[in-house]
Amino acid sequence: VLIVQKFGGTSVGNIERIRNVARKVLQTQRAGHEVAVVSSAMAGETNRLVELATQITPEPWSREYDMLLASGEQIAIALLALAIHAEGGKAVPLLAHQLGIETDEVYSKARIRSIRTEKLRELLKEGIIPVIAGFQGVDSENNITTLGRGGSDTSAVAIAAALKADACEIYTDVDGVYTVDPRLCAKAKKLSEISYEEMMEMASLGAKVLQIRSVELAAKYEVPLYVVSSFEETPGTRVLGRTKSMEDVVVNGIAADANDARITVCGLPDSPTVPFEIFGPIAEAAIVVDIIVQASNEEGKRNLSFTVPEVERTKVLSLLESRLKPKYPQITFASETDVAKVSIVGVGMRNHPGVAAKMFSVLAEAGISIKLITTSEIKVSVLIDKRQMKAAVEKLHTAFGLDAV
Ligand code: ASP
Ligand code: MG
Repeated sequence: VLIVQKFGGTSVGNIERIRNVARKVLQTQRAGHEVAVVSSAMAGETNRLVELATQITPEPWSREYDMLLASGEQIAIALLALAIHAEGGKAVPLLAHQLGIETDEVYSKARIRSIRTEKLRELLKEGIIPVIAGFQGVDSENNITTLGRGGSDTSAVAIAAALKADACEIYTDVDGVYTVDPRLCAKAKKLSEISYEEMMEMASLGAKVLQIRSVELAAKYEVPLYVVSSFEETPGTRVLGRTKSMEDVVVNGIAADANDARITVCGLPDSPTVPFEIFGPIAEAAIVVDIIVQASNEEGKRNLSFTVPEVERTKVLSLLESRLKPKYPQITFASETDVAKVSIVGVGMRNHPGVAAKMFSVLAEAGISIKLITTSEIKVSVLIDKRQMKAAVEKLHTAFGLDAV
């Protein structure tokens, strides 16, 4: 069996822990498996590097910034390979350019284009453990790129897919995927399994367990994921294709995210080109837009509201100011950062009516007003006041029968 094991920052947070990881990896190998390892930077390291760069410039995103951020993983894999040697095993640390992880040119959120597997297969065949730097790639001109924060999950899944591995195990500081972030709701319950689709929604909605793109990739290539603690021997959570029993459950999880900002553009003309004129430039800047709501007012003008990550708010506002204002001088902009998005997620929603209505009634009872609503086949999201996020989450968790007993 071929297994890709990925270790997060806390799992390699100090030398003692790196030694533990080395033992764990060797244990898997000695049990007769082939193992490839992907590692994040040591806990706190990437943040430290970000902090250094922002002391120089507030918006450091660039080739230099990616080169800087990617360095954390280099340290981690070198130490981990040393530790494997010290434990009597064989390992080779590999950076993206040595392995051949090619990405596009979008710094700080590059997408993987291809991964060369020859070298990996060679090493595996010889019983040598490849220890691969997560989070990084190189573009077609050999510039170092990074895959976005939390991107080593995506590295691991991409490598598992390229190798057609039997499993991709994500070792982390939480012991699995919960119905809701346990820090937000004391009654959170660990799930033994969750479908790719639900996990994608949960991840994109702010459950920080896995980087969302790793789950998209896993679903696309059907890589079975297993999220498990690196510190405890408790069973983790499997992330896999949808099963029958999953559909009996209406809501399988709740996600909350307070990192978005709402932007509203008021007084737009009723023209078919307007939405594209707004979202085109935002897309070009590779900024992800989430909830979008359009409404008409009495004068036949339109207002458009949408959410973007809070960190992109000023960038979006200045983009719109420069691209739209000259053409539509009458428009005005507003934005708000004290908002939170709360979502209920479940593949069972497809077959159960009245799920959204129940959510709204629970929120109404709690006196929580809703600013924006959006739904998909398997989720309902509302944007509410940030201060009411915790209360909303707790009430919904109980109402949909998710509380741990
Ligand atoms: N070290 C990177 C980060 O902190 C990538 C990762 O941990 O997945 O975002
Ligand atoms: Mg992570």
